[in-house]
Amino acid sequence: DTIIDLSGIKKIYRTKEKETIAVSNVSMQINAGDFISLVGPSGCGKSTILKIIADLIPVDGGSIEIGNAARPIDRSRDIGMVFQQALLLKWRKIIDNVLLPAEILGLPMKESRERAKDLLEMVGLRGFENVFPYELSGGMQQRAAIARSLVHDPEIVLMDEPFGALDALTREKMNTELHQIWRKSGKTVLFVTHSIQEAVFLGTHCAVLTSGPARMASYFPIELEVP
Ligand code: ADP
Ligand code: ADP
Repeated sequence: DTIIDLSGIKKIYRTKEKETIAVSNVSMQINAGDFISLVGPSGCGKSTILKIIADLIPVDGGSIEIGNAARPIDRSRDIGMVFQQALLLKWRKIIDNVLLPAEILGLPMKESRERAKDLLEMVGLRGFENVFPYELSGGMQQRAAIARSLVHDPEIVLMDEPFGALDALTREKMNTELHQIWRKSGKTVLFVTHSIQEAVFLGTHCAVLTSGPARMASYFPIELEVP
């Protein structure tokens, strides 16, 4: 049940001064419900791959198929994203931050509000619905961002080093929590990290993106034992 199918993806960033080949030949097939940890050296194109899947940037070659006949995916609605920074809007209460994607997509607010509350409970932020972001620690803000990425019930969640800015202890705790959240949610997750330990702990598969001298990127999925 392939839900993400990239074949021979090429992406070049062009500025006035120069061209950067960000990825040159990336192919990957991801099955629905998998948790793929994506590792690789800085600058090898991990973020670029996520942005391509989310349809935030165009490609310069290759083919992209997201969804399948049994599970159609509208990339503007069925994808959730989490970034290295929580990027909460500081003038909005936590619950209203979590509700943002639902609001943007015009989903019914009453149900979305219930869902947002459930998600906040799931990420351990029950009772913090009506506080403002500055009242929460970095780890708590990041948990709110995870809740926000799930509020519109997306099939696919893309996470770009979501715990990169956290201290080691919080990070370890977040790993355990994210693992629980993923098991309950059944979503397909693509998770970028610099930490092999994190990758192996969280993933059903670990994929390695490399950038050789020719910037030829490869994808090696390694099946992991799910704890
Ligand atoms: P990673 O996430 O693996 O660190 P990125 O996908 O962010 O890698 O970047 C891949 C390459 O593309 C890097 O060389 C980076 O500097 C370059 N790059 C990324 N975004 C842009 C951009 N908006 N404009 C120009 N170059 C970019
Ligand atoms: P990451 O930590 O995900 O690898 P970076 O720190 O490389 O991200 O980049 C942060 C942001 O800056 C990204 O949105 C990326 O697209 C952009 N970026 C990265 N490299 C360049 C570049 N050379 N020129 C312009 N934008 C870039």
